[in-house]
Amino acid sequence: MTETTDITIRHPDDWHLHLRDGDMLKAVLPFTARRFARAIVMPNLDPPVTTAAAAEAYRDRITAALPADASFTPLMTCYLTDDADAGDIVDGFATGIFTAVKLFPAGATTNSAYGVTDMGKVLGVLERMASAGMPLLVHGEATDPGVDVFDREAVFIDRTLAPLLDRLPGLKVVFEHITTSDAVDFVLSRGDNLAATVTVHHLTINRNALFEAGINPHMYCLPVAKREPHRLALRKAVTSGSVKFFLGTDSAPHALTAKEAACGCAGIFSAPAALEHYAQVFDEENALDHFEAFASLNGPKFYGLAPNEGQITLTKTAGTVPDNVAVKGGGAVKPFLAGQPLEWAVVD
Ligand SMILES: [Zn+2]
Repeated sequence: MTETTDITIRHPDDWHLHLRDGDMLKAVLPFTARRFARAIVMPNLDPPVTTAAAAEAYRDRITAALPADASFTPLMTCYLTDDADAGDIVDGFATGIFTAVKLFPAGATTNSAYGVTDMGKVLGVLERMASAGMPLLVHGEATDPGVDVFDREAVFIDRTLAPLLDRLPGLKVVFEHITTSDAVDFVLSRGDNLAATVTVHHLTINRNALFEAGINPHMYCLPVAKREPHRLALRKAVTSGSVKFFLGTDSAPHALTAKEAACGCAGIFSAPAALEHYAQVFDEENALDHFEAFASLNGPKFYGLAPNEGQITLTKTAGTVPDNVAVKGGGAVKPFLAGQPLEWAVVD
């Protein structure tokens, strides 16, 4: 058998992305726009994007920040709050401003203080979304402080997600950035209306990476990386060919000073080499024949969108992840596996 050295796939999409705003947006957007045709843009700005008008304004700022030669479409989301306006949300979906709604349980992660405190409060909105076919994107972690941080995803399934799907069997739900074999099993056990995104960092590191030779803030994200058997379950799921799993980087930049601090922010900035790192995972698993489905086909199919027309080629060649990405005004942000060797490259 000869080794694969090139792979050409339909232009992929990133179904979970944080772009931030202002100078940070300008610094990070080109990495995504070079690799992906579309991305689900998460709404957790401060204050969050909770109305169609705010989403339209944010979409315009993203489009204005694009490199001149880029062809990239941001897909906007609404941040669900206890007092969300169901009419504005489903109207925004009908007119194409919103692609989906994001549920952050209150207190789960960056800027989630505005999140939902009780699912009962948003049931009316979710019923309207189910009727409209509008997807709910779920940060699936229990936020009860009594739950161990490594158990929060599994507890969320039992306490919140399973009851929600039982109550609204027609609601389309993406279980975002899953990290456990519990989540893999749960997604596989349910119908076509439940799918999941998987980040490249959760396919690459386990929780040891957080503590290797000291505390490593650039390996810290939420949901936090889990034990090795969970990482292996994720790799098996994404490379299996199942249509229920698709690419979502959850690339989440924070200024270097906010990561390398006494209380470092949660978030891993994977955009500069995410597609390359995903290709490496599929290569290591001898599953490059399933890479296109995961990166370019399963996501659009779930969302009811056409796959992209263009193509992208990756080639197996040695490179290096950039050490730092400069942000205007003197700051910087550190990529996932900064300065480490890369095995795959995007061909221009
Ligand atoms: Zn996220």
